[in-house]
Parts: sequence; structure tokens; C-alpha cells
Amino acid sequence: MAATSITLTARDASVDHEIQAIVSGGAAGSTCSTDLAAGPWSFDAVAGYGPGASMGDVIPTDAPRQGELPRAYREAPEAELHDRIRAAKAALGDRVVVLGHFYQRDEVVQHADYVGDSFQLAGAAKAHPEAEAIVFCGVHFMAETADMLSRPEQSVILPNLAAGCSMADMADVDQVEECWEQLADVYGPLDVPDEDGRVPVVPVTYMNSSAAIKGFVGRNGGIVCTSSNARTVLEWAFARGRRVLFFPDQHLGRNTAKAMGVPLERMPLWNPRAPYGGSSEETLRDAEVILWHGFCSVHRRFTVDQIETARAAHPGVRVIVHPECPMPVVDAADEAGSTDYIRKAIEAATEPTTFAIGTEINLVRRLAAEHPQHTIFCLDPVVCPCSTMYRIHPGYLAWVLEELVAGRVVNRISVDDAVADPARVALERMLAAKPLPTGGARA
Ligand code: SF4
Repeated sequence: MAATSITLTARDASVDHEIQAIVSGGAAGSTCSTDLAAGPWSFDAVAGYGPGASMGDVIPTDAPRQGELPRAYREAPEAELHDRIRAAKAALGDRVVVLGHFYQRDEVVQHADYVGDSFQLAGAAKAHPEAEAIVFCGVHFMAETADMLSRPEQSVILPNLAAGCSMADMADVDQVEECWEQLADVYGPLDVPDEDGRVPVVPVTYMNSSAAIKGFVGRNGGIVCTSSNARTVLEWAFARGRRVLFFPDQHLGRNTAKAMGVPLERMPLWNPRAPYGGSSEETLRDAEVILWHGFCSVHRRFTVDQIETARAAHPGVRVIVHPECPMPVVDAADEAGSTDYIRKAIEAATEPTTFAIGTEINLVRRLAAEHPQHTIFCLDPVVCPCSTMYRIHPGYLAWVLEELVAGRVVNRISVDDAVADPARVALERMLAAKPLPTGGARA
């Protein structure tokens, strides 16, 4: 898409259209990288997450690379790509299900059969055993989860293999195994319960982690959580262990544990490059939650200053942020909750309300377009989408669908049984975990 071809309309929710207009000088505003106006294929040969919020993060050397997208898809006008996607979907019928994450660009989401968060979309994949292929317009760990929860005969396809997740990549399974060995040095055998029946430490991983990490957790008595059920999962873990090792997102771990009454000084940060994670043995013995040194570069952009600016400009504004935001931002907001929480809070507002939202901009813009009775804006004034989600462009979606029509499966994401079996155990523990009737006192 050429930057000059975009004309913004008042109700156009497309972040891509706005970036094109800003970069071409056709609209006011700023974006974190003018490179966002280029097609994502420009970055397929370059090691990195690409332009957007994660562009400063270090990509692992073994991160999957996308091969060259055929020229026909790179050069097709946007309208032609939409026609081709619709035609391919019509030809495939029930043989394919297209899933679109909340943070995905509008040009892709409009073709999704289901739109949701990673866990909702994994459920949607599971609900379609008749589909031969599930095209997951999200990021790599989401496609892995869908593969583990779908039938073995089904192909889960990620339209651009370079759509990883910088946060998930911050917890490498080798580093986690090494951490586990060091914790055994401090606490003794990690599978031996004390007189209360609790083991020294229970590993908990956020859904935003690799299948290898979920498998590690499953093998070691641990559990997966989402941003919707993190508190329930921590309650589950504290009932079984004296402390929790939480990865990869330190902010979700800290915000959740703090709300449960865990003192900050009992939540040391584990730096995988330092012996004992950079803490003393005494600190680790006193720890209740050990936080892995990971974060989301999208949610790390939100600041207390932005909240103060929004409050000054919009008296009465309701500020809702995602719990992946840093703790001072969560503390300064009116509410914190998952993408599902944010959506439901806006849908439940019966009076016209001004909302300032701290989460990924594609979702915020879509919510604003869907709820014109409210004023809804992103706390961050700079247009800066999730880099990796942005790697999926309609050109890649058209390509994988037309390959399916031709009888070819490209970009299949497949998790080995040796990893998937214990990972499913950790996911099933999450599904079975129930909130404490008291509202969540720690054991
Ligand atoms: S928004 Fe953050 S956690 Fe979500 S895919 Fe992007 S980098 Fe990963």
C-alpha cells in the first residue's frame, strides 16, 4: 500500500491507514517509527521484530524467519487483496477457520471468523474439529497453543512466521531450567513437600509464553494463567507451594500478587544473566513470588504522566489499563483488567463516558469505532502498534489461504508431543482452577 493512497475518514478505525496518512503528511500526529508505513515484507530478511513497540527488543537468534512473500501479494492493492481473501475463504468454506487477535490490524480482523484474546481464540479453534486448517492471525505462541488444543490432523497456520512475541521470547526454556536448578540449590529438592504439604516453589507461566515453557511448567507441578485469571491461578499455586516462580511478565505477576497482599520486598526480580537471578540466598528464601525479568514493550509505553494528562484534559475520564502495564501505571488508573475486562467495561457503560485506555492501539481504535456514544482514546498519543502482530498483513493472509485452495499447507506451526503433553497438563490445571470463595486470601 502506498502512503499517498490513503484518505482518512472520521470513522476509519484503521491504525495502518492512520500511520500511512501520518507518514505521507496527510494527517497530524506521530508514530513511533515511519518504517511502519512500509510493507512488513521489507523486514522479513532482517533479524528483529520489525517496526513498532518491540523494535528495541533483542530477538533470539533462533527465532523463526519468514521467507519472501511472492511479489503478487506484495504489490497487490489493498482492495484486490481483500477480494482474493474473500474468494479463497468462500472456496474453502468450512475447511478453514480464520482467527484474529484483538491487537491485529483491522485489514486482517475484518476477515476473521472469530476475534478475541489468545485463550478465547484457542477455544474457538477447539470448537471447530471439522476444519482442516486454522489460520491464526496472532503471534507464534498463540498458534502453538491452538495446535496443542486442536486435533492432530488439523493444521494451524501462522500467516507470517516472523510474528513472534518479544515478551514470550524473554523466557527461554534453557534459562528457565537453569533458574530451576539454582532454586533447588537454595530450597533443596523442589518436589518434596513440607509439613504443610506444600513444595518449595510452584512455577506459573503466563499464556504469553512458548510451548516449551508451558511444557516445563506442566512437568514441574505448575500451571498456566491468563490476564483474566491470574489471581485465581496464584491462589491455586499458593495452596500447593510456599512461593511462586512467575514468568515471563514481571508486571502481571507483580500487579496480581500486590493486589493479593504480597509485600513488594518479597517479590525479587530474577535476572537470568546473574547468579541466583541477582538476589541473595536470604532474599530468595524470604521470597513469596519470584518475578522473571520479562515485559511487554507495548504495555511498557504507558506512563503515569499520560494518565495525569488525560485527567487534566478530560475531567471525569475513566482510566482503564491492562495489568501488563508497570505497577505505578496500574496504581494510578481507575481500573486494571484484561482485554476482555476492558471490552466488557465499555459495553456495560450505559451513559456516554470518556475512557482513556492503556492497551494496544488496534483494539482501542476498534472499540472507539464500535461505541460512538462514548469518547474512547489510547493513553499513549504516539501511534505505536505491537510490532509482531503488525507483521501479519492482508498480503500474507491472502497467500496462505490461496495456498490452501491449491492444496498446499504453508507456515504450519506444530508442537512435538514431548512438549505438548505436559503443556496440556498445565493448561488443564488452569481450566480446573477455581477462585477462592473468600475472594482470595493467601494460604
Ligand atoms: S502486545 Fe506484547 S505480549 Fe502481546 S503479542 Fe505484542 S509484544 Fe507480545
